Formats: sequence, C-alpha cells, structure tokens
Amino acid sequence: MPARIGLFGGTFDPPHVGHLVTAVNVRHALQLDLVVLMVANVPWQKANDRRITAAEHRFAMVSAAVADVPGLAAGRDEIDHGGPSYTADTLAILAKQNPGAELFTIVGDDAAAMFETWERYQEVAAMSTLVVVDRPGAPVTLPDSYHWERVEVPRLDVSSTDLRSRFNDGRPADFLITAPVLDVIDSLGLYQEEE
Ligand code: ATP
Ligand code: MG
Repeated sequence: MPARIGLFGGTFDPPHVGHLVTAVNVRHALQLDLVVLMVANVPWQKANDRRITAAEHRFAMVSAAVADVPGLAAGRDEIDHGGPSYTADTLAILAKQNPGAELFTIVGDDAAAMFETWERYQEVAAMSTLVVVDRPGAPVTLPDSYHWERVEVPRLDVSSTDLRSRFNDGRPADFLITAPVLDVIDSLGLYQEEE
C-alpha cells in the first residue's frame, strides 16, 4: 500500500512533457511512492470557455503517457465520480482507498494562484501538503497557515493551450508530446477540427 501519494490533477487536453517532467521530478524530490495524474471529469473552471475533449479520450492519452513510467499512474476517480471535479472530493477518495497514506496536491503556479477559488479549498489544505512548481509568471506565495512547499523542477514553457493551437494550424507537436500520446491522438482522430 503506497504511503506517500501525489495527486496531480488536470484537464490534460492534451498531456505534455511539462506534466511528465513535473510528475517524475516531484516524485523523486519528495520520495513519493506514486504520483497520480488525475483526469478531471468536468473541469468546472474551464468548462464554459472552450470545448473540452471527452474525458475518456483525455484518460486514454494520460494512460498512454504514463504507461511505462515507474511511479506514475493515470487516475480516473474523477471520471467515475461524475459531475464537476473537486480536488477536495478526490483527496477524500484517495484517503479512503489508501488508509494512512500521506497525500500531496501538486499544482503549477497558475493553479496555485487560483487555489482559494477552489471548491472547499480549506479541506484540500487540511488533507494534503500543497506542492507548487514553477510556471511562467510570478511565483506564488501561499499563506503560512497552509502546509505547502515549492519543488524545483526543470521549467518547461509548454502548455496544452499552445499544443491545441499547434494542432489547429499544423505546427509540429513532436517532442512536446511523447510518442505514445501522439499515437493515441492519431488513432482517435483528436484535435483535427477547427476551433
Ligand atoms: P491549458 O493550457 O489547457 O490550461 P495546461 O498545460 O495548463 O493546459 P492543465 O491540464 O491545465 O495543463 O494543468 C494541470 C496541472 O499541470 C496544473 O497544476 C498546471 O499548473 C500544471 N502544468 C501544466 N503545464 C505545466 C508545465 N509546463 N510545467 C509545470 N506544470 C505544468
Ligand atoms: Mg492550465
């Protein structure tokens, strides 16, 4: 039974090397047994802004991304739970599945800056240690009342937004997205429609 578990939640539309480099480096730095790349079912803070790729397709891409990576797993608890995805609920599920585990919630600076807009963020702070990694923009400082720490990971200015725009106008996504994920994108015919 894993004792130290990282929850790395996201839309992963699509998953890219920024996600993977972050996950393996946080895992190493904090000696986590497992980092779960948890695929949001309905990313409620994004859902009204643009069309989101079907959750099962995003899960297929994340599964391919982590398939051969020790210590990383694709999570589908938020999909199975249904409805809008709240990290507070997901941590409760992970705690129940892994009695006694120490939980870590991994976020980039952009997500950390929004932390207090999360549904029941106080529960997230109470149930887990927040782990913040660099993303472009100002580094976020969280209140001392939270258990939080910054972990240095190689800073890669890669985003799913940029990748969707690459698919849209035909620029290459090679090396920004790993080959197994590109295969899934190909075989499912994802990101082919004009936005
Ligand atoms: P989008 O551009 O659609 O918002 P994204 O690239 O930000 O996509 P998300 O699925 O929104 O990816 O992000 C999930 C988590 O991964 C967030 O905590 C985000 O800060 C973090 N993250 C995304 N890209 C990187 C990166 N290049 N380096 C470090 N963390 C990242
Ligand atoms: Mg994002």
